[in-house]
Amino acid sequence: MFAASDPDMIVAQIAIGGLVLVGLWRLVGWVRDAPTTPDPWDAEFEQKLQEPETQEVCHHCSTPQPPGAWFCSHCGRAVGPYNNLMPYVQVFSEGEVFRNGVTCRFRNRRLIATGFFLMTLAINPLFAPIYLFLLLSHLKRSRGGPVSAEDQGVP
Ligand SMILES: [Zn+2]
Repeated sequence: MFAASDPDMIVAQIAIGGLVLVGLWRLVGWVRDAPTTPDPWDAEFEQKLQEPETQEVCHHCSTPQPPGAWFCSHCGRAVGPYNNLMPYVQVFSEGEVFRNGVTCRFRNRRLIATGFFLMTLAINPLFAPIYLFLLLSHLKRSRGGPVSAEDQGVP
């Protein structure tokens, strides 16, 4: 970073480094001081969630899942607790996310579209142009309107 021999460049690099540090410090303070939001449920429901005999459900269709299940028997979505950490099963979770981008209705926000765009370029740059074309055409179609169960692919 300090390979430049020009003293003006060194001062500029130190100033940029200082600005980055101040920005990081302000970001840490903003996150630390952010208000905490209460749970949307009461204490009894929270206690039931923490009990070991509470059965897990699919995050997509709310079908109860047996212990150790990796995929929902009703809708086929990846439901295991460590799916995103296992290299083989992770592929199915990523596929589900990409499939949601072009088939399901979701909150059409710039942040979500940017996430799809960056994830596509990072994970599969070879097919990125095709996927991004499908994603953009889906985003144009899905502006506004509530998300229905049929649009989400729930049978
Ligand atoms: Zn399901």
